[in-house]
Formats: sequence, C-alpha cells, structure tokens
Amino acid sequence: ESIPVITIDGPSGAGKGTVARIVADQLGWHLLDSGAIYRVLAVAIEHHQLALDDEEHIIPMAAHLDVQFEISSKGEGKVILEGENVTDIIRTEEIGELASKVAAFPRVREALLRRQRAFSVSPGLIADGRDMGTVVFKQAPVKIFLTASAEERAERRFNQLKEKGIDVNIPRLLHDIRQRDERDENRKVAPLIPAEDALIIDSTGISIMEVVNKIMTYANGKL
Ligand code: C5P
Repeated sequence: ESIPVITIDGPSGAGKGTVARIVADQLGWHLLDSGAIYRVLAVAIEHHQLALDDEEHIIPMAAHLDVQFEISSKGEGKVILEGENVTDIIRTEEIGELASKVAAFPRVREALLRRQRAFSVSPGLIADGRDMGTVVFKQAPVKIFLTASAEERAERRFNQLKEKGIDVNIPRLLHDIRQRDERDENRKVAPLIPAEDALIIDSTGISIMEVVNKIMTYANGKL
C-alpha cells in the first residue's frame, strides 16, 4: 500500500518549513525537512575538515550520516549529528551556503535518496525541499511549489535573524538569496523547478495561514 505524500518545494525563504510543519500538524502526518539533511551533511563535512570536492569521502559519509531528528511537542525539531546537538548550527548562513554547494553533486544527492524516502511512513508525509515532487517523491499525489519574491524572502529572513539577535542587512541577504536561487535553479541534477503536476502558490503578500488553507483545500480534493 502506498503512503500518501504531500511535497512542498520552492526557493529558500518562501516559508516552506513553517507551512510544512503546520500542515503536518493538522493532518497528524510525518515531516521531512530535506534541507536539514543537506545542512547536516555540510556540518559533517566541516567537522571532518573535508574539501567540498572530496567525493571519495563525502559520498560514504552522506550514505551513513549518523543523524537523528527529534520532534518536540512544540514543532521545532532537534537535530543530532554524531551525538552532538547541531540544531542551531545548521541554520546559519554559512552552513546553508555550504549545503547548497554540496547539494550540486549528483552522487551526493543519490546517496541521500534512501534516507529521505525512509521518512514516508503511515499515515502520511509532508516533505519539504527543492526536488521532493520532481525526484524523491515523484509519485506523490499532492505537489506544491511555494514561491515568494526575492525581496520578500530577504525581508522575512531579516526579521527571523533580527529576532535571534543576529546582525545582518537586507541588501546582503537579498544578494545571498539570489545567489542561492541561481545555484539551485541551474544545477544539472534535480534543479529547483516546479513539477509538471504541482500547484504553484506565490506567497508574496499573503499570510502563512492563507497558504496553509490553500494547500489543505487543494489536498482535500486530491486525497
Ligand atoms: O531548504 P534549505 O535552505 O534548508 O536547504 C539548504 C540547501 O540544501 C538548499 O540551498 C539546496 O541547495 C539544498 N537542498 C537541495 N534539495 C533539497 C533540499 C535542500 O538541494 N531537497
């Protein structure tokens, strides 16, 4: 019997993570934050002081990554790498940057496939990332592509970081976001692109809950 999957793909900062968490909560389904896996791998690469093109060591590491995702009752999951709490480290800009670089290697992506697919267990899964609907869960009955303007994404990111007391400026964030989009959209394998059968939602100027409601309505008609 196949497990129902809702995929939510899109560029960084479009609100996928928050939306995916709320939808998973409402349905009582599991959640896969696939970006976190790439980020954890980036941290592991740093810890082991590997060069980004050191595929010989990175591929087996990706395949056997000793990572645990602990979901607390209030949503925010704890991420443990080789026994170390990396929940905060993986969210930094540097690690995001490194993750997006390592994510461009086809063999790295392949090595992470099985681990991602293992998240699809009963009663269902919400999977967020870049290639959930196009590669990892191609057979998913419900696919969403969530976007927002780069300016709005930079502003949201600015507010998130400000809340955490991290000092950044919007032009810098906008520059980084555009660069990351460019890399994710133009890589040869699993580029960031909507699946043919995805519902495209532009979240510029609309609230998180409006996005959630759109997805729930759409999913109800499909499942
Ligand atoms: O979504 P998040 O910003 O946490 O992802 C970090 C990076 O990991 C992205 O910029 C992207 O390059 C990569 N990624 C990916 N495929 C996914 C999820 C993330 O290539 N499914």
